[in-house]
Amino acid sequence: MSRMISSKFKAKEGDKREFPLLFAMIIAIVSGGASGYIWGEAMIVVAWIGEFFLTALKMLIVPLVVASIITGVAALGDVRKLGRLGGISVAYYASTTLIAVTIGLIMANLFQPGVGVSLGDLQAPTPKAGDVGITDLVLSLVHPNIIAAAAEMKLLPIIVFCIAFAAALSTLGEQGKPVVNFFEGLNHAMMQLVHWLMLLAPLGVFALIASRLGMAGGGDAFIAQLSGLASYVLTVISGLLTHAVVLAMLLLWISKRSILQYLKHLATPLLTAFSTASSSATLPLTMDGVQAAGVQEQARRFVLPLGATVNMDGTALYEAVAVMFIAQAMGIDLTLGQQLLVLLTATMAAIGAAGIPEAGLVTMVIVLEAVGLPLEGIGLLLAVDWFLDRCRTTINVWGDCVGAAVVGALHREK
Ligand code: ASP
Repeated sequence: MSRMISSKFKAKEGDKREFPLLFAMIIAIVSGGASGYIWGEAMIVVAWIGEFFLTALKMLIVPLVVASIITGVAALGDVRKLGRLGGISVAYYASTTLIAVTIGLIMANLFQPGVGVSLGDLQAPTPKAGDVGITDLVLSLVHPNIIAAAAEMKLLPIIVFCIAFAAALSTLGEQGKPVVNFFEGLNHAMMQLVHWLMLLAPLGVFALIASRLGMAGGGDAFIAQLSGLASYVLTVISGLLTHAVVLAMLLLWISKRSILQYLKHLATPLLTAFSTASSSATLPLTMDGVQAAGVQEQARRFVLPLGATVNMDGTALYEAVAVMFIAQAMGIDLTLGQQLLVLLTATMAAIGAAGIPEAGLVTMVIVLEAVGLPLEGIGLLLAVDWFLDRCRTTINVWGDCVGAAVVGALHREK
């Protein structure tokens, strides 16, 4: 009898974990939104719970990324296969980001959200450019001290180091095996920690949403902020939704997966992305969801950490709409050539943006500079950016998840 129960349990283990969690996450989002809406600033008292969840997630990132990349690349066994996997991934990242910016530009031209917006509301923030030039992008791939990079959570140099390290391991044959085994063990242990932490996700998500709405001053203040910039917010959101559908089609076409089945496994990371506004902090849950969805292992271990750092479709799309909006509000008509420049620079700016809240707002500076718009234009967007940040982060994570499935399918076909 007990054996029967245990085998039944194993068979349904995935669903047993996922269904109650999904249900709890939906309740958390709805009740968090409702509490923040109704009780406003009073909900700031639960902010520490959200902070605890977020910090615990961040605590897992570095060891998880290191173990995931090293085992993923080492399992390829041959540097040429790494070239192929890397090539497919980069092609996916570049093409989907360019599609995202194009959708953003089309939406902004179609809806003209900035036309008629008063510049009287313009505040003058002092945006900092950060790492944004082409050479800075290349330089951000390396770091003088790998331990310091880990301490500062600079993921790109860590990823580059781990890819090179695993490639070196795979040339060592027998000698490299104990090292690979060590990282295999580390990877399994980290995933177990992720499972445990997921039990806290509904509470964390509730607290993050309720306290953030509280900080915005509650429901009425939130609605006032949104309606002040309604056409801009709607343009960004319709662009993001359109891109999400394009990605879903890609998923269906190339990896031949059911979109709903895939979404079922990914609901927790996607809702967490919305609640945290950080693709990096969401990464542990993204990796768990994509694993549960059965995506090809090496592709998943390679594509997701890299994607969380460089593949940001939502951010790229938003930056294109935001820049067009600022130009329209200032009565400047961007020519086709200038819009092509937006296409290229927004792609670069999105690659340069870190997977943390509001990073896209900062890297937008390169797009504004490229087309000669004043940086102060960003002031127009500040009031609603915290909300749009959550929407674009969700699409950033969705882009990584679809990427893992698509790259996995293409890699397997070889
Ligand atoms: N918050 C976004 C992310 O983590 C980046 C951005 O600000 O656009 O993916």
